[in-house]
Amino acid sequence: MIEVYIGLGSNLQQPKQQIKQARLAIAKQKNIKEAGFSSLYTSPPMGSQDQPDYVNAVMKIVTSLSAIKLLRVLQSIEHQQGRVRKAEQWSARTLDLDLLLYGDQQIEHPDLIVPHVGLTERAFVLYPLQEITQTDLHIPSKGMLKHLLAQCPLKGLEKVV
Ligand code: ATP
Ligand code: CA
Ligand code: CA
Repeated sequence: MIEVYIGLGSNLQQPKQQIKQARLAIAKQKNIKEAGFSSLYTSPPMGSQDQPDYVNAVMKIVTSLSAIKLLRVLQSIEHQQGRVRKAEQWSARTLDLDLLLYGDQQIEHPDLIVPHVGLTERAFVLYPLQEITQTDLHIPSKGMLKHLLAQCPLKGLEKVV
């Protein structure tokens, strides 16, 4: 079993509900067990500012699925929840599920880069991640989580109360 962190994001069609539904859909998969879930956060969009703010969270699971199989599962859940892929990068979406960390592995596959490329500088990933892990978590080839956090301003990130 491998410990895995998944980043969840949504800014369309009741984002909080989308995140809640995705959490349930992930947790009920065969070969996946939920092992932690952060608070919900809101953050301004990346890319075009002409879209709603995001709701984000990070989920920890343990799984026996390979990384690529897990990616396919996450993509099918995005699809089930009405994700429509647009040409424009970082455009509005009902659901985005990013595979952030897969154990301590580094993966370079045409469809899958782990650790996730945005992980080191995105407040909406690092702060929720810190909530559900030890602060001495080591990010393969990137360093200690606490060091990444120390260099990462909040950039409008707020915990949902
Ligand atoms: P970003 O990846 O910068 O957060 P995004 O989430 O909006 O942007 P998507 O359109 O959801 O990007 O995904 C684009 C491609 O990224 C997917 O087709 C997928 O194959 C690839 N990808 C590479 N590494 C990962 C990963 N670790 N988790 C999820 N998708 C990944
Ligand atoms: Ca993303
Ligand atoms: Ca994605």
